[in-house]
Amino acid sequence: MLTPNFFAENGLERLSEKRCNESWTNDLLKKKNSAFLPFWRTKSLVQDFTSTKSEISLLSHEEISQFNRKDNEFIFLGSRNDTPYFLIDLSDIEDPSKYNSLSGNRSFKDLREVGLSLSREEGGILAYSRALAQWHKTHKFCGRCGGKTESQSAGHVRRCSNPDCGSEHFPRTDPAVIMLVSYGDKVCLARKSDWPKDRFSVLAGFVEPGETPEGAVIREVKEEVGLAVTNVRYHSAQPWPFPANLMLGYFAEAESDEISIDELEIEEAKWVAREDLEPEALAYFENPHSVSIARRLIADWVTKKF
Ligand SMILES: [Zn+2]
Repeated sequence: MLTPNFFAENGLERLSEKRCNESWTNDLLKKKNSAFLPFWRTKSLVQDFTSTKSEISLLSHEEISQFNRKDNEFIFLGSRNDTPYFLIDLSDIEDPSKYNSLSGNRSFKDLREVGLSLSREEGGILAYSRALAQWHKTHKFCGRCGGKTESQSAGHVRRCSNPDCGSEHFPRTDPAVIMLVSYGDKVCLARKSDWPKDRFSVLAGFVEPGETPEGAVIREVKEEVGLAVTNVRYHSAQPWPFPANLMLGYFAEAESDEISIDELEIEEAKWVAREDLEPEALAYFENPHSVSIARRLIADWVTKKF
């Protein structure tokens, strides 16, 4: 079995069958060993030990009580080593550094800047937290009637407060495909116009309504670089909470090597031989925290692991 991608494992037991029971969640909130993960705007509380090693910073019952939050503001993430984990959004605080529990050797950082220095499980916990917290921020109103929504099921549902509506809204995840296209012993890498000049990567795009991921791979490759592909094979997936994607990784084989780019999406695309990618693939294995599935696809193709 493949090693899961970074962000894809978090060690939390979600207990999804229990979290919809309000009294069960409220009892859990009162437990002395409950741990609270604060979120502020797009950032999570972490503690840096060195420039390459950080840990998530959890607040205790006593520390969280000063913020006077209502029970339904806490989001139950799951249980890990018998410790219930709750996420709490403190974005309304203007200056977190004024609180002892949110400052000192602790600070709020975005997952993009801290991801590489976290363990795999803690990277996964922050990815899960970031996606949920961002969803709550952007779904305060009902998409059907415009009424206010309220958090329920320990933060895993928002229900419309309009009694004539009462719609339930669930956290969204947008599927996207990311695919390594090969032709013999070379791979197609492309660069978007807003990327740095030397940055090339594999192709990617969103799955559209009424489409399968495999269909999206075939369509996107044709649109972006003009190549017909066959033998579309699934590799692995990666949660990508910026803000709410699930990246589905594929390999595909081009039927020719005649590239024709869509200049609206792609500035440059090229074929790169396997031997020219080897240094990058080796660097991936030297640094197992390299986070992106793009690097993983390239590394596994170069080393013929998949
Ligand atoms: Zn409504």
